[in-house]
Amino acid sequence: MKRVTRQRTEILRVIDESERPLGPQEILQAGREAIPSLSIATIYRTLRDLLAEELIKTVALPGDSPRYESLHAHAHHHHHFQCTRCQKVFDIHGCPGSLQGMEVPPGFQVDHHEVTLYGLCADCVGVGS
Ligand SMILES: [Zn+2]
Ligand SMILES: [Zn+2]
Repeated sequence: MKRVTRQRTEILRVIDESERPLGPQEILQAGREAIPSLSIATIYRTLRDLLAEELIKTVALPGDSPRYESLHAHAHHHHHFQCTRCQKVFDIHGCPGSLQGMEVPPGFQVDHHEVTLYGLCADCVGVGS
């Protein structure tokens, strides 16, 4: 039980302290710095628990596997940027709001939107192909 608690604490710390949403492999890599024996199965199991307890939330990306971010630190409405070279996902501040110029059919009512920007992150700009 003690071991489970420590692993869980470390996984939650990694997600909480990250500036950007992380995928399971990224969480595994970061978590292994503190707990070398950490396994991907433990990461998935813990992510499932943390989601159920609403401590983290899923960042769904079209056509890609989900990333996870701290629900507490990311409760506000925000969007994401995905680097097309390294696949990392970053938080974007600001929102196009009413998405002017987008028209839904008459009688429809919009209640939320997802916006994902794509391009190269600062580390990847300037890296030659
Ligand atoms: Zn990148
Ligand atoms: Zn928005």
